[in-house]
Amino acid sequence: VQRVTRQRAEILELLKDSTQFLSAQQIHQLLTEQDHPIALATVYRALQALTGTGGLDVRLSPDGEHLYRRCARSDAHHHLLCRSCGTAVDVPGLPLEQWVDHLARAHGFTQVRTTVELDGVCSSCSLPDR
Ligand SMILES: [Zn+2]
Ligand SMILES: [Zn+2]
Repeated sequence: VQRVTRQRAEILELLKDSTQFLSAQQIHQLLTEQDHPIALATVYRALQALTGTGGLDVRLSPDGEHLYRRCARSDAHHHLLCRSCGTAVDVPGLPLEQWVDHLARAHGFTQVRTTVELDGVCSSCSLPDR
């Protein structure tokens, strides 16, 4: 149990400093480079356990891979992604959720799911070249 806790702590520590979403393979590679040898299967298991209640957000990459990030917000939110460097910013989900709620009610729908993909170019990427 201690071992599992330590490995999860190492993964959370790594993700704490990342503004980008990372795949299990990228996390595995970074941990190995930082002298924290860990099995890829262990990384997958830890990420699954940490998603949601453990404070990790997950999104699907365009090719269907799960990408993970430790988010600053714990409430419902969306991600504004930079197409250029991959930085993700957490943005509040509330106005959108209220609008969806309103639409659902107006049309008698329940359990409406929303998937929001927001991408653009972040402020550091849109700076002119020097
Ligand atoms: Zn998030
Ligand atoms: Zn950027």
